[in-house]
Amino acid sequence: MAGMSTENIRVRFAPSPTGFLHVGGLRTALYNVLFARKHGGSAVLRIEDTDRSRYVEGAVENLLSTLEWAGLRFDEGPEQGGASGPYVQSERSDLYRAHAEQLLAEGKAYRCFCSPDELAASRERQLAEKKDPTYDRRCRMLSEAEISEKRDAGLPFTVRMKVPLAGQLQFRDLVRGDITVHYDVIDDQVLLKSDGYPTYHLANVVDDHHMQISHVIRGEEWLPSTAKHMLLYEFFGWAPPQFAHLPLLLNQDRSKLSKRQGDVAVEDYREKGYLPEALINFVALLGWNPGDDREMFTLAELEKEFSLERVGKAGAVFDVEKLKWFNGQYLRALPAEDLVEICGPWMREAGFDTTDPARTRSVVSSLTNYLTLPSDITEHLGLFTGGPVHITGEEAQNLVADAPAQQVFTRFVELAAELEDWRGESIKAMIKAIQKDTGVKGKQLFMPLRLALTAEEHGPDLGMIAELLGRDETISRIRAQLR
Ligand code: GLU
Repeated sequence: MAGMSTENIRVRFAPSPTGFLHVGGLRTALYNVLFARKHGGSAVLRIEDTDRSRYVEGAVENLLSTLEWAGLRFDEGPEQGGASGPYVQSERSDLYRAHAEQLLAEGKAYRCFCSPDELAASRERQLAEKKDPTYDRRCRMLSEAEISEKRDAGLPFTVRMKVPLAGQLQFRDLVRGDITVHYDVIDDQVLLKSDGYPTYHLANVVDDHHMQISHVIRGEEWLPSTAKHMLLYEFFGWAPPQFAHLPLLLNQDRSKLSKRQGDVAVEDYREKGYLPEALINFVALLGWNPGDDREMFTLAELEKEFSLERVGKAGAVFDVEKLKWFNGQYLRALPAEDLVEICGPWMREAGFDTTDPARTRSVVSSLTNYLTLPSDITEHLGLFTGGPVHITGEEAQNLVADAPAQQVFTRFVELAAELEDWRGESIKAMIKAIQKDTGVKGKQLFMPLRLALTAEEHGPDLGMIAELLGRDETISRIRAQLR
């Protein structure tokens, strides 16, 4: 980026631990890490857990382990520590309270004694009048004496920011360009709740400042909050960071990505056997593009290529089929032993005996091209397990019943019984010999054999299938087709 000092690039991923990591959160985390790496800066992980009503047991641990699974590493955070810690907001409450006090003292914020019931009633009234509900600012008008009286009576209060009543503010978003917001659409936002905990807005701005964050890269849903944040920077007299709001993630029908139309938790994809490399590659392209038609990127490549200039404004469709395609690419590129390791549990669950490592490995290798998810392997295991083969479809049934096929089968049974070495290569040589002996060749030779052994018209190498089935099972399947 022109004119930008790269030494002080500091970004943060600031999730609220709500129980799982959303795929949109994964993208935000990824783009932050990529931006930091690209510019030799630091990526900070900060846990925003000030909303105690949304606290979920184990959510932080889950978040950390999911990020680690995805291969995203942060330079500072709750686990690794760092000079700007603690990195968990619930451990920083005093700091936020002190800043709220400062704004009160400077007349930039005020105490609001309105009870939740009063606020709800006012909200209802406004909705009935078809107005956007905003706080009516009645406590902003309280006199010193009224405030003292309420405080002496021990009434609970929140602290609200005093948004100017007229005027506007402007800021520049690195993705969306110049943005102007009129003050009259900004509510007097609560900064400190009556339980003494800060709201997201106060904690977020105080931390971004104290953690010296240079760039705030986050989802577009936070764009409307940014005006409030800019105002807070102004109130405190701090230089704001630069903002980059990432485009929305969309369902296929271009509505906002939702649980109803598919999985949104990274954990769901992890459990289904998606590889982290595939998910990262896929998510990287949801909003960013390399400027050409390349699609396959490792994390290391993304760290070199990524730039905010190539992040678009348009919503990005979350196309699970595309994700599956990526997964297939990455699965097929794995070394055989890794693939065996990944597919093993699915095979065992399907009742397949994996105790013979060489056989398991051959089965997996022969099916590699048919996998987009490791669980797909279970659909093909029937090829290698005993049991009758049912050939369906009239054309296929006629093909195996025809004279040339019957000739092939007869010769196959004769030669197979005597074949010395029951291995893929020698079985293929035997099929060549059958061609010579019977004069049947090409599709007429191979298709009936394939149908007899697998009931399918396509599939893995025929010699390999016969080898894995074993001599007895192979002969019995061929025999079953003799008329
Ligand atoms: N805690 C907010 C969230 O859960 C962070 C938003 C931001 O990055 O400012 O997404």
